[in-house]
Amino acid sequence: MIRYLKILVLVAGVSLGACKKPTLPVMQPEAVVTEPKVEAAAPPSETIQSPKTKTPDTKGSAIVLCYHRFEVKPKDGMAITPSDFEGQLQAIKDNGFSVISMQDLLAWRRGEKSISEKSCVITIDDGYRSGYDVAWPILKKFEYPFTMFVYTAFVKGGALAGGASLSWEQLKEMRDAGVDIQSHTVNHQNLRNKKGKYQSQFATYEEWLRNEMADSRRILEQQLGISVKALAYPYGNHSEEIRAIALQSGYEAAFTVYGQRLTYHSPADQLGRYALDSAKPKIFTDALAMVGGGVADSPRSLGGVGGGVVSGQLAAASMVTIPMEGEVIREAKPKIKANLATFGEVEPGSVEIRVSGIGAVPVQYSPETKLAEGKLLQPLREKQVTVILSAQVGGRRVETRWNFTYDPSEPASSVVPAVPLQAPAPATNSGPVPNR
Ligand SMILES: [Zn+2]
Repeated sequence: MIRYLKILVLVAGVSLGACKKPTLPVMQPEAVVTEPKVEAAAPPSETIQSPKTKTPDTKGSAIVLCYHRFEVKPKDGMAITPSDFEGQLQAIKDNGFSVISMQDLLAWRRGEKSISEKSCVITIDDGYRSGYDVAWPILKKFEYPFTMFVYTAFVKGGALAGGASLSWEQLKEMRDAGVDIQSHTVNHQNLRNKKGKYQSQFATYEEWLRNEMADSRRILEQQLGISVKALAYPYGNHSEEIRAIALQSGYEAAFTVYGQRLTYHSPADQLGRYALDSAKPKIFTDALAMVGGGVADSPRSLGGVGGGVVSGQLAAASMVTIPMEGEVIREAKPKIKANLATFGEVEPGSVEIRVSGIGAVPVQYSPETKLAEGKLLQPLREKQVTVILSAQVGGRRVETRWNFTYDPSEPASSVVPAVPLQAPAPATNSGPVPNR
């Protein structure tokens, strides 16, 4: 008996000894296993989690306004007179909006903060001196927070700087006074243009995109010692690839210039702003009405949709659609898909999809995923295809549209921008308001 025990001890000793060396990797899973036990038993972990698990405020919503230059005699629609600007800031107040900072908007989107249903964020693009000289004193009067979207090559000393550029010193002064500063890329190029300026310095289109988006963020953070979390796409132009790289570059929010009411569910990589144009006052009134706007073309009435349509604006800049705006496809019967998250509360069963050359198509809409899917029962007949999507939202008919090209002879899955090279303001119904 004693002998038997001895053998057991020996065996145990040997096996322990043998285990010693490979123990390290084995220890790790053991340590991990104990963790959940500790967490489950210890109440403090709940307190740590509670701020994160705060219910997101899905009721809040916001409009984001985009200004550029402030001039007594505006040279073009991108400039606004100081008195008109002041009038708009007053109208924002008179219409019951709370002007909130970009940081509040981002905190709300992260579920950390509630905002009013009529929140407004003011942004100024490019980095013109008139933002500092003219707009800032007026904004101070109203005590409105605002954001400067700056493209770094335009800052004094940069390759694209000019007499109208802000300097880093001025940006530092703004930063110290609480002005929010965010990124508008390095060179303000149309990111959808695969053969644009500066690209020869990079091996691939993707590398160039990364430089434009990630470098501007890094430069701003290093020059100003700030945290840059938001991006404004130059001219509002983006694509699936551009949006993916924007998120990979560390942005929490990327903005287009397709004006719309932003909800908690609006996709982070394409948040629409109303690009105000002093020659098109409707964009500002659309913004205050929180309806689609900010697009150069005027709404057109459509067969079958009837009166009371809120807007007939281009969708692609703000919505995830398949096919995308400007895409060239080969399939004769493509699936038409759109994410309606930016629409607000869509009444199920009210979604209508019409395709040019075909008419209304059967639609499936899922209130959970906010995805609307149209099915073509017959093949496309025309090369230039317009999709018109409408739905009932809050008792009103809301409508949006986008275009793609059907060309069976094209190479597969080529996404060609509808926006002409270096021409940010297409005359046709094919793009957002220029952003510069
Ligand atoms: Zn711009």
